[in-house]
Amino acid sequence: MSKPACPMCEMNEILEHAERLECVTCGHEWEPAQSAGERVVKDAHGTVLADGDSVALIKDLKLKGSTQVIKGGTKAKGIRLVDGDHEISCKIDGSAIGLKACFVKKV
Ligand SMILES: [Zn+2]
Repeated sequence: MSKPACPMCEMNEILEHAERLECVTCGHEWEPAQSAGERVVKDAHGTVLADGDSVALIKDLKLKGSTQVIKGGTKAKGIRLVDGDHEISCKIDGSAIGLKACFVKKV
């Protein structure tokens, strides 16, 4: 594994903290996940989603492994973008749920 480079100044002197990296040269701080490939998650209409956004379902979704259906139009606040098949991690009615970005729109 080579050390990450700073996305701002591209120098390699990086301090590695628990949840973030810090550039010794310019002081820029970032989360490691963001430096790895700049993943962009888009909703059903092509709007780029970010952590903390609110989204609404554009259709009824059946929860995997359950009979529960989440109705279209249901909103989820404060989403988190995660790796994997379901890019959005959020809570609906108090339950942690993973959603596919193609089934939501930003509100
Ligand atoms: Zn830097």
